[in-house]
Amino acid sequence: QSQDRVFNFAAGPATLPEIVLKKAESEVYNWRGSGMSVMEMSHRGKEFLSIIQKAESDLRTLLQIPSDYAVLFLQGGATTQFAAIPLNLCTPDDPVDFIVTGSWGDKAFKEATKYCKPSVIWSGKSDKYTKIPSFDDLQQNPHAKYLHICANETIHGVEFKNYPIPNNKESLLIADMSSNFCSKPVDVSKFGLIYAGAQKNVGPSGVTIVIIRKDLIGNAQEITPVMLDYKIHAENNSLYNTPPCYGIYMCGLVFEDLLAQGGLVEVEKKNMKKAQILYDTIDQSNGFYRCPVEKSVRSLMNVPFTLEKSELEAEFIKEAAKEKMVQLKGHRSVGGMRASIYNAMPLAGVEKLVAFMKEFQARHG
Ligand code: PLP
Repeated sequence: QSQDRVFNFAAGPATLPEIVLKKAESEVYNWRGSGMSVMEMSHRGKEFLSIIQKAESDLRTLLQIPSDYAVLFLQGGATTQFAAIPLNLCTPDDPVDFIVTGSWGDKAFKEATKYCKPSVIWSGKSDKYTKIPSFDDLQQNPHAKYLHICANETIHGVEFKNYPIPNNKESLLIADMSSNFCSKPVDVSKFGLIYAGAQKNVGPSGVTIVIIRKDLIGNAQEITPVMLDYKIHAENNSLYNTPPCYGIYMCGLVFEDLLAQGGLVEVEKKNMKKAQILYDTIDQSNGFYRCPVEKSVRSLMNVPFTLEKSELEAEFIKEAAKEKMVQLKGHRSVGGMRASIYNAMPLAGVEKLVAFMKEFQARHG
């Protein structure tokens, strides 16, 4: 990567591939001979239509999205989906089940209480969100409309490695994939709906992607705001109102880059390698560094860790920043450190971090 760039371990908005930023830079005044920036284009003009259609088609290729699923490019972040999902899929009396493996799942649950009758059927809170439940032990409500999971908890670093199956034929699996979207292949057909904010793995903030089985669209509660109604967005190909045009364009460039890397099988291999050298460094530090998350469910994307000598944490973060490794402070709710190593974090960034960790330990261990 360029000398003037830092290695940015932020959880989101997060680092983007340099190749994508350079491409955007080269097109910023004049997109492909149009004489305009994508920021200045009509969202109904042929230029922008070609951009959004290509973005959708490349995402479909990447995730092998079946044709009976719609892809929506929305706004309002994943947080808006916490409300939109129950509003679109439930009546106010419908029960739904939540598995809560971290703060985001908890927020999604709390928002849903306004629009349907959710229950938490499993919570990792008493273990400080370091576990994923065994699916055999889940007590699902046989009448639940859906089972909601957060596929990767960004703050706690807990990731589902496989997925629970809802216990009745009509029930749906729904996943917040904000922080591991497009980091590995996913069998979309197992889900009723997948949603993700773009600002971790696939673009800038301001774009939220929803992938929904088409037959689920069209049942929104009457009070649903027009901007939250999937039917409105699906019928208008995400162009009911002015979409986040530039953000969608950037996502499109990221999708092109992921395809050029060989698709999500290759991307996952790189992510596994990065995560492994970082977890190995933590686990082989004789307790100097610790990751509290159960080994089998550690996230490939967000790696939280603490120092045995917690009084050294501020120094660790400060010294790392001096060496151009930034945003390593853990979320304010859990403390410690967190290295987010999304798709766009180069292997060189993780190698530099682990070299620094070893050197820091040699000085302070
Ligand atoms: N879900 C997860 C897993 C997240 O990591 C985040 C944000 O960091 C959110 C939801 C909320 O997303 P947004 O800020 O886009 O509303």
